[in-house]
Amino acid sequence: MTNLKVLISGASVAGPALAYWLHRHGFQATIVERAPALRDGGYAVDFRGEAHLTVLRRMGILADLERARTGVGSMSYVNSAGKEQAKMPADLFAGDIEILRGDLARILYDATRQHTEYVFGDSIASLTEDADGVEVTFERGAPRRFDLVIGADGLHSNTRRLVFGPEERFVKHLGVNCAIFTTANHLGLDHTGHAYRTAGRLVAMYSARHNAEAKAVFYFASPQLDLDRRDVAGQQAVLAETFTGNGWQSDRLLQDMRYAPDFYFDSVGQVRMDAWSRGRVALLGDAAYCPSSLSGMGSGLALVGAYVLAGELAVAGGDHRVAFGRYEEEMREYAVGCQKMGNGVAKLMVPGSRAMATFLNRYYKVMPYLPGKNMAAKIARKAAENITLRDYRKLARR
Ligand SMILES: Cc1cc2nc3c(=O)[nH]c(=O)nc-3n(C[C@H](O)[C@H](O)[C@H](O)COP(=O)(O)OP(=O)(O)OC[C@H]3O[C@@H](n4cnc5c(N)ncnc54)[C@H](O)[C@@H]3O)c2cc1C
Repeated sequence: MTNLKVLISGASVAGPALAYWLHRHGFQATIVERAPALRDGGYAVDFRGEAHLTVLRRMGILADLERARTGVGSMSYVNSAGKEQAKMPADLFAGDIEILRGDLARILYDATRQHTEYVFGDSIASLTEDADGVEVTFERGAPRRFDLVIGADGLHSNTRRLVFGPEERFVKHLGVNCAIFTTANHLGLDHTGHAYRTAGRLVAMYSARHNAEAKAVFYFASPQLDLDRRDVAGQQAVLAETFTGNGWQSDRLLQDMRYAPDFYFDSVGQVRMDAWSRGRVALLGDAAYCPSSLSGMGSGLALVGAYVLAGELAVAGGDHRVAFGRYEEEMREYAVGCQKMGNGVAKLMVPGSRAMATFLNRYYKVMPYLPGKNMAAKIARKAAENITLRDYRKLARR
């Protein structure tokens, strides 16, 4: 089929990256995003290794990303008085490119908005598939018909819920919640970050946009919270309850939180599914195989997934019955390998006990001098490179 019309749910990383490649292969994409405008929030995401860089290069946006790098170098663990306890050089964890998630979303949007129809402030309400396509109704807009629908709507995917069933079946909560927002760089951080860890809690501040502002990041251990994801006041109340009087900059940042333009709150989780497609609907990025926001792998995985999914559709001449199966064959082992990077990180980031928090604070002091200090970065790079990318531009029939 030549004029394949594809509806994508979600305009963050996976959705626009897919729209880019669909256009390159001659297909038409419409993106529906629930937020009223492009979402700016979050802190940094990483790209590492040849697979990520190859896709970025083939999309022609590698230079844009390089220009927008955070440039944040080492980060320090501090005590309640703000005194440095341990310094972590950037190369112990960093990938090849670190960029603010909001900047990445903007670059992808700019690379696609000329040819992709973006519908903000709406969401899919129902999907009814027949032999020739999918009838889609929306919460606001009029019903429309598409050949295929792709859910790129994140960890709490609406598309996944509508087609595959409730979230509890697929999302494994890793016992941690996080909140991120922009704040003033009142500590005068110069391309660096400070983090303060106590039992079950971590609060950090990183300079952003070349020190013009900062990002406040909170992590705390807790079972799955029964919170409405759109209830910002409720989320902020939980954060205030958890961190008030916690020490260091916690109280100041909690005050700043009330005025943040981009408050983001979520649970840290992983998505595990036996199949990523059903009929004419497929899932992409975090919606299908979220490795957890602590893994440092989510955006790279979404980007590679978008490249493979669009490429397989092109090679199959738009035949989703072939392409969705091939997408999964190419991606499954890779995605599972990247997900392993998310396992265990939660406990290291926010250890449950005071003894473990103290141990880690001491361990981090000596870690930069240990022989295996770069191990985490090496393992992450290996997982991120564990795929042989097909050159779909040559393989595609048209
Ligand atoms: C605001 C925000 C901040 C983030 N901050 C970080 C961070 O600091 N560090 C990190 O590692 N990861 C962060 N992430 C997650 C990271 O972007 C992803 O792990 C990764 O980039 C894969 O992206 P994705 O496009 O698959 O999913 P996501 O980035 O989660 O994007 C999903 C998109 O779908 C939209 N959406 C949700 N429901 C609907 C619906 N019903 N209809 C239409 N659209 C819908 C969302 O608004 C969002 O734009 C953040 C995500 C968001 C949305």
